[in-house]
Amino acid sequence: MGKLDPAWLAAQLQALEQRHARRHRLTIDSLARVGNPTRLWVGGQLLRNFCSNDYLGLSTHPALAQAANACMQQFGFGAGAAHLVTGHWRAHHALEEQLAAFTGRERALLFSTGYMANLGTVTALADRHDTLIADRLCHASLLDGARLSGAKLRRFAHADVTAAARLLESARADVGVGAGAASTARLLLTDGVFSMDGDIAPLAELAAISAQHDAMLIVDDAHGIGVLGATGRGTLELAHLSAHEVPLLVGTLGKALGSFGAFVAGDALLIDYLMQRARPYIFSTAMPPAVAAATSAALKLVQSEGWRRAHLQLLIARFRSAASAAGLPLSPSSTPIQPLIIGAEAVALALSEALKRLGFWVAAIRPPTVPPGTARLRITLSAAHTEEDVMALVEALATVWRESAPLRAASQEAAAPVDQVS
Ligand SMILES: *Cc1c(COP(=O)(O)O)cnc(C)c1O
Repeated sequence: MGKLDPAWLAAQLQALEQRHARRHRLTIDSLARVGNPTRLWVGGQLLRNFCSNDYLGLSTHPALAQAANACMQQFGFGAGAAHLVTGHWRAHHALEEQLAAFTGRERALLFSTGYMANLGTVTALADRHDTLIADRLCHASLLDGARLSGAKLRRFAHADVTAAARLLESARADVGVGAGAASTARLLLTDGVFSMDGDIAPLAELAAISAQHDAMLIVDDAHGIGVLGATGRGTLELAHLSAHEVPLLVGTLGKALGSFGAFVAGDALLIDYLMQRARPYIFSTAMPPAVAAATSAALKLVQSEGWRRAHLQLLIARFRSAASAAGLPLSPSSTPIQPLIIGAEAVALALSEALKRLGFWVAAIRPPTVPPGTARLRITLSAAHTEEDVMALVEALATVWRESAPLRAASQEAAAPVDQVS
């Protein structure tokens, strides 16, 4: 049976279904109330949304839609071409300058998605002569970039600085053996906030070992930008790290900024080099200028409405104390990403479905998005939630957790012998 044979494809899908790993989409019909991203109408059911990355609730803020509208009235919708051809509009350029100022760097370069930003950055900076050292739980886009680059990829146990230092040390020993010292670079890759666990990378330590081993540290702060730090500048602000210590910062615009797209920020030389060499930048249409205009409006709100971060922090604290009192297995996370690790895919799915019946939307996250045996409910909080929302969620979680006790016990028994043979 050939790979493109319909029977083979159908069998693959059926195998996924049997492993409770087949993915389905939730089609959102509308917002229950204009301006509030936490209440969704889905197939006639009202759901409180607890799994978006819209951490500040900006996706439905009227200022974003107004900025996009104003831009569209003037310039129409599409960018027309890639940035380097004729797709780079004033709105893009202004946003790049604002992002550079916001992140305290000389320049920023827009990409259409974070996936492309990571793919482009890593493939532009590393080739088969180089070594990439990455946290095991780095986002798929960094790892895909690493694979595509042809560089040697060495992964260290999650957040294990000693292991990372060892890998840097042994990569250093390779210098001069192959193509010569001048052509060998070491890049250390990490997420700022880990997207499926919510924990924060040990950035100060990673910066220290990078400096010690003459490696470049690249931080993907997709879930930190806008959310963390006193002024929303992300995990680097939290760790008091300068542009010198973290030469390249990747940020996404589709999460806390409530918009779409991504950027890479660094010194002018590096950014100019990326502009010449990052293939997803060169060979892809620029985002619509209206998207850039909306993002500029969001960036202003990130800076002017600090109450959104303060309210979010309050909700995180409320959630953690209530969930802990209810006996739920919390993960060590101080960010709006608060996963409940379940283990078996079928159980995570059953819990997600039970929550949906109670009016809460929390997707079950399964492999390959997370490692095998760690399927989970990835709960995320937003500044658009109220304290009542969070309390109601914890109550619903406690109910479905209690009711799923037999299912959880059965799945643990079933899993045990499999674990031993594998
Ligand atoms: C979401 C995410 C990305 C990808 O960003 P998109 O703009 O959605 O393509 C990259 N890195 C991390 C850590 C992410 O969570």
